[in-house]
Amino acid sequence: MMPPPTPGRVLILGGTRLAYDLAAHLASEATPDRWHVLTSLAGRTSHPRHPPGEIRIGGFGGVDGMTESLRQDNIMAVIDATHRFAWQISHHAERACRALSTPYLRLEPRRWRAERGWLRVRNEAQAARVLRCLLPGLKRRRVLLALGYQHLRPFRGLPRGHFLVRTLNPAAPIPLMHARRLIQPPGDYAQEYGLLRRARIDALVARNSGGTMGYGKLRAAQKLGIRVILIDPPTAIRGPKRAQTPRQARAWLAALRGF
Ligand code: NAP
Repeated sequence: MMPPPTPGRVLILGGTRLAYDLAAHLASEATPDRWHVLTSLAGRTSHPRHPPGEIRIGGFGGVDGMTESLRQDNIMAVIDATHRFAWQISHHAERACRALSTPYLRLEPRRWRAERGWLRVRNEAQAARVLRCLLPGLKRRRVLLALGYQHLRPFRGLPRGHFLVRTLNPAAPIPLMHARRLIQPPGDYAQEYGLLRRARIDALVARNSGGTMGYGKLRAAQKLGIRVILIDPPTAIRGPKRAQTPRQARAWLAALRGF
């Protein structure tokens, strides 16, 4: 039997630090008359950090599946705090919300401004092409690929480089020759500075995810004179309301609920 619908149910599309912080922020004042927090995780990692509030894990089954799920779970608002490069789930959520006239907010941190000398590219394939040109001129040809293992394919077949691949998954397949995995989450400036120096990195490939997490490596790279190739995020959905912080998202929700 289906559980009775809960009033004021908010769905957070998660999988990011920002989504976790938002869930914690909202859950701290969750009451039935205010809101009830449900976070959705894709289920990509075996031991995800569970945010406060209720959790569901796994895909919805496309736009139709999500539309049905929003209806069944009596969701009154969706806050999409997924990673900026996870464009599919955001497109699905925005369309499902539009179909049901459910309020949708996109929560994402401000993008990083590319500094002088950083090379901006559109995607991983272009980053690999740029790197191919750069590699012969690099002193040590040691490259940190801060991309996630699912995005390494275009870098296969690059000539004579040594690659350090950042991944939090120790079992992740790394489809590159001369590659070592770095099982270490992004740190602050000092940690990333130490890492880049010790590993004698002379080029960094990263994605412009924005926010504070991950910016340390870029600042450190800049300080050390490391070449930076920065991948632009996919085109953002046009139109939805946006917030950059959990506080702003909470204010949006409070206004919706008339608090
Ligand atoms: P994606 O390509 O946009 O989504 C692919 C499919 O995975 C979606 O169509 C959906 O399946 C399912 N999915 C994704 N996020 C979900 C969520 N939060 N809850 C339920 N189902 C979800 O996503 P992705 O790039 O694989 O990222 C997956 C998750 O990892 C996201 O939650 C994202 O926030 C997190 N993450 C991604 C990155 C990245 O670089 N892409 C980095 C850090 C964290 P259905 O169509 O079946 O609903």
